[in-house]
Amino acid sequence: MNYEAVIGLEIHCELKTKTKIFCGCATGFGAEQNTHVCPVCLGLPGVLPTINKRVVEFAIKAGLATNCEINKYSKFDRKNYYYPDLPKNWQTSQYDLPICEHGWVDIDTSEGKKRVRLTRIHMEEDAGKLVHSGTTIKDSISSDVDYNRTGVPLLEIVSEPDMHTAEEARVYMEKIKAIMEYIDVSNCRMEEGNLRADVNVSIRPEGTTELGTRTEMKNINSFKSLEDAINYEIERQTEVLEDGGHIVQETRTYDADRGITLSMRSKENAHDYRYMPEPDLPPIITSDETIEKYRAELPELPDARRARYEKDYGLGDYDAAMITSTRAMAEYYDAVIATGADPKLAANWMMSDLSKKLNEEGITIEKSPVDAQRLGEMIQLIMKDTISGKIAKKVFTEMWTNPDAPEKIVKDKGLVQITDTGAIESAVDAAIAANPKAVAEYQGGKKKAIGALVGQVMKATKGKANPQMVNKMLVEKLK
Ligand code: ADP
Ligand code: ZN
Ligand code: MG
Repeated sequence: MNYEAVIGLEIHCELKTKTKIFCGCATGFGAEQNTHVCPVCLGLPGVLPTINKRVVEFAIKAGLATNCEINKYSKFDRKNYYYPDLPKNWQTSQYDLPICEHGWVDIDTSEGKKRVRLTRIHMEEDAGKLVHSGTTIKDSISSDVDYNRTGVPLLEIVSEPDMHTAEEARVYMEKIKAIMEYIDVSNCRMEEGNLRADVNVSIRPEGTTELGTRTEMKNINSFKSLEDAINYEIERQTEVLEDGGHIVQETRTYDADRGITLSMRSKENAHDYRYMPEPDLPPIITSDETIEKYRAELPELPDARRARYEKDYGLGDYDAAMITSTRAMAEYYDAVIATGADPKLAANWMMSDLSKKLNEEGITIEKSPVDAQRLGEMIQLIMKDTISGKIAKKVFTEMWTNPDAPEKIVKDKGLVQITDTGAIESAVDAAIAANPKAVAEYQGGKKKAIGALVGQVMKATKGKANPQMVNKMLVEKLK
């Protein structure tokens, strides 16, 4: 039997507010243990939380950017559970009246465009962190509790079970990341856990619509782990069913080193949490005016920017999608164009040589040693025919380790294109004289043979002759 996978994601997104959600403590990452704490976030008795208005603003903006309806009456609830990193023994979260509901985002996969629905976005506080003396809780003699992260604001973005492949899930999470970066509500540093997903996976016989029993993998914080964990889980569940077994609804962990998922505990249900309204916080009432004010403050979002690049700059769909896939890429692109560089050339360079170098070195575009200004200047040298596209590749490689202006590099390295007819002519004559076979072939009708002659001229001029001029002159002379 063939099975279809069904996947739904709960993405936790840490908000970049200066202070925590219910107190004035700082949110900064990497501070000394238990220095960003106060009676409120430590859950001491007799203190009252107050809501950080920025958190509500960011949540509403996130909802608007993902086509959600904003609930004008929303409230907080207590989700009760016991764990040492949770000093109050409940997490202040939202249950039945989340701030945003019924959204969607469009994603592009190798199979085409597709829409993923969002069930809801709600606000909640993060828990603290256990710092084990060993590597895991099991092999540790003791564990410290660090409450710095307790009360850091989170959005939980819950999707409908609309995805069916690991790729769809990855692209969806990339899209959510891009949107949160564009609207500037989160740093989205996955390695720091700013963005992490609980991944729900089930399978069902192809062609059926009833949902199968799901397993959930918690706190996945890289795109690679996301895909690997899903693929592993689909395979595992398929094997269980094929062997006549049944899937147990449970929480599993993904062990990235071993590439497998492991059973952690049976899954808790909502009633296990004894959700109850939070009596210490007033409901959040939002007016149309406020919603419209936040809507007006939203920047251009990835889909709109992509459409604009296609329309205004004539970029292909794929290139426009790639360049707008992160805010940093789009901003880099705009900065290259702002120098006066041709938009299509700029896109080509970003998609080819620049991406390749960044991938090779495993760095993001913000850290590129060739910044937008210098790439723009280099592209203008191509536009002015100072260098050919081929020489530009050499210049670009040099620029990677040499901080000089491209114009200076071209001069210092003697890479200026030869457009002097006399100099090209002597190289052309020499190539014709030295290659009678290619000449004969060309004149006998094999037009492709000219390539060998062009190659000779380029070699003799160390790639600096203007290729169009060489071609033209050869055609003339061989008539
Ligand atoms: P929780 O996991 O906190 O109990 P929900 O029941 O709302 O919360 O489900 C959370 C996520 O699991 C959602 O993203 C939803 O789309 C997804 N999901 C629910 N049922 C299934 C299923 N049978 N297979 C795959 N994903 C599912
Ligand atoms: Zn505090
Ligand atoms: Mg869940």
